[in-house]
Amino acid sequence: MLRSLPSIDRMLASAAALRLAGKLGRDRVRDILREITGELRIEIAAGNLERSFADGDTSAALMAEVERRLEAQSLAAVTPSVVRVVNATGVVVHTNLGRAPLARAAADALLETATHYSNLEYDLQQGGRGRREVHCQQLLARLTSAESAIVANNNAAAVLLVLNTLAEGGEVIVSRGELIEIGGSFRIPDVMEKSGARLCEVGTTNRTHIADYANAINEQTRLILRVHPSNYRIVGFTSRPDVREIGELAKRAGIASYEDLGSGCLIELTQYGVEGEPVVAESLKAGISVVSFSGDKMLGGPQAGIIAGSGATIERVRKNPLMRALRAGKMTYSALEATLRIYERGSAASEVPVIRAIATPVDQLEGRAAAFAQAITSRCRLKTELMAGQSVIGGGSAPGTMLPTVLVSIVADDITASSIENALRHNSVPVIVRTERDRVLVDLRTVEPEEEEVIITALAGLSRRVDGDGRNVAGTQIA
Ligand SMILES: *Cc1c(COP(=O)(O)O)cnc(C)c1O
Repeated sequence: MLRSLPSIDRMLASAAALRLAGKLGRDRVRDILREITGELRIEIAAGNLERSFADGDTSAALMAEVERRLEAQSLAAVTPSVVRVVNATGVVVHTNLGRAPLARAAADALLETATHYSNLEYDLQQGGRGRREVHCQQLLARLTSAESAIVANNNAAAVLLVLNTLAEGGEVIVSRGELIEIGGSFRIPDVMEKSGARLCEVGTTNRTHIADYANAINEQTRLILRVHPSNYRIVGFTSRPDVREIGELAKRAGIASYEDLGSGCLIELTQYGVEGEPVVAESLKAGISVVSFSGDKMLGGPQAGIIAGSGATIERVRKNPLMRALRAGKMTYSALEATLRIYERGSAASEVPVIRAIATPVDQLEGRAAAFAQAITSRCRLKTELMAGQSVIGGGSAPGTMLPTVLVSIVADDITASSIENALRHNSVPVIVRTERDRVLVDLRTVEPEEEEVIITALAGLSRRVDGDGRNVAGTQIA
């Protein structure tokens, strides 16, 4: 069989190779053919191909196999790696699904800036060099009740910047209940070490008192850090000082106080049933000297880390040489500015997708779910049922907070839930759903009304393929 392998040149002359060369160029196709030949040699040596090529013309069979693999490469070559998906999980800020979708106005602003020259670092009044930091500064200051603000690449960068700027070479006091890991191996003690500040742990996992902080202050202390428990909740016999006490203690001791808020909620969400998510302005009003938060969690904007606080603190952060390495780009600035303007005109609940999802009342979801389920049963060979369920805020926001929702449960006689899930995930616009006890669950809270048709069409296609190919094909062909 090894001897029957066609030469690279013969393979290059095949129709499939010529087609792919049109897209990728001949050199790249030659490399791909070398890779494929390498794979085939290994598979032949392992005896894996013998069964499929048991008789007939081995050389022709191998050639056909090469062409099949080239076609697969050809498909991969035109499919972008990053694609949009439909989030039917009901997890509003889903870190695996790109967190917050941008508001229309933010996407429009981004497109305009991204495809043209801009005044990113140009002062249009003076006609000379300007600074990028000015762009969202006033707007952020107004919305957070801070004197000033600055934007970094993400909140992890913001934490590193603040710790390094305010506490390098000194000590930072943190409660043992707040020494958290956020995910993606971002751990407060590790970031602290990289920032050049020394961690001074106080209190216990469940209870830390203001006296614990006060007793730990010495001449090395630069900062008291408070971390919002964004992705966990300690329940039961617990206590920690409130922000006001932390702010006052730090002021009396002549040191700074910093709260890593994680999510960065700009408006009160209790009216929508979300408890325990602090509003950024409240921390600053309570006397905390500086806060930071993400742009793409509850704020619903682009990936960014926002640092807000006193003018003097922000100026020190701005002058930190690390700022140059961790700064935000022009697309971030324009999307963030447009998002913040929505908050300023008070229409976040209708324009910012994550806030809109959170603010959607359950009876509205119920009406949509009923019509959606009806459309599925009339167009697909599937059974549906409406179930009371819960949506999650997610993304390390409001841990433990659930929003009541209506789930559409989808089942079929001849297709398992995991096959349906798999088929939806492989749809041209992938649809991500929950599965539970052999049911597919769709939560429309995170699905835009115009995306419902994407899901229904995908499900109809799935039923048709099962119909056309006969029973049980679903498990092999579709999955
Ligand atoms: C999410 C989070 C971060 C990291 O923010 P990114 O924007 O993902 O870098 C830091 N601290 C807390 C408390 C968080 O919840």
